[in-house]
Amino acid sequence: MKKKSALLIVDIQNDFCPNGSLAVPEGDAIIPVLNKYIKIFSSGKLPVFASRDWHPKKTTHFKEFGGPWPAHCVQDSHGARFHPVLRLPESAIILSKGMDPEADSYSAFQAVDAKGNEFADLLKKFSIKELFVGGLAADYCVRWTVLDALKFGSRVTLLMDAIKGVNLREKDSEAAVEEMVSLGAKKITIEKLSRMFAGERG
Ligand SMILES: [Zn+2]
Repeated sequence: MKKKSALLIVDIQNDFCPNGSLAVPEGDAIIPVLNKYIKIFSSGKLPVFASRDWHPKKTTHFKEFGGPWPAHCVQDSHGARFHPVLRLPESAIILSKGMDPEADSYSAFQAVDAKGNEFADLLKKFSIKELFVGGLAADYCVRWTVLDALKFGSRVTLLMDAIKGVNLREKDSEAAVEEMVSLGAKKITIEKLSRMFAGERG
């Protein structure tokens, strides 16, 4: 794994996990695997980004105000918190999106850090050339983020054992993965990455 790689964990929030208001089926099952990826990146002193939905109470993103989704990830609510099993390092950079009450923001490229820096600018600042992406949901925020990353010119590797989809229509996730791969994303699993990492060290 090269110095110019970073990990991006997409939307591992209570509302997207079982018992949440917009739960991805078995969404929490990928968290232990994500924690392993986090360990590898942290120990390699590589940046770890974590995006989150961070909505105002009133937004056209929610059904109640004409949008597609039940209310979820409202700023400072329990549902918006990262899932308690997720082990983010202190150095993790939190990216918030969806604050605009009149827009759906699915991509981390529409997110900003605590200081208002856009994700694309942070990638430039850290000279990141390759993003490893996992999280929720494969067919929405992961998909949109990966498509934007490829457009931005970054290499993208999908964490195949650490993504899960909503699957409003059966096979949405499968189709999303096929689309991302056809546009240039690569696939990896934790076993493969661990081997790569061990090889580089040894
Ligand atoms: Zn949302």
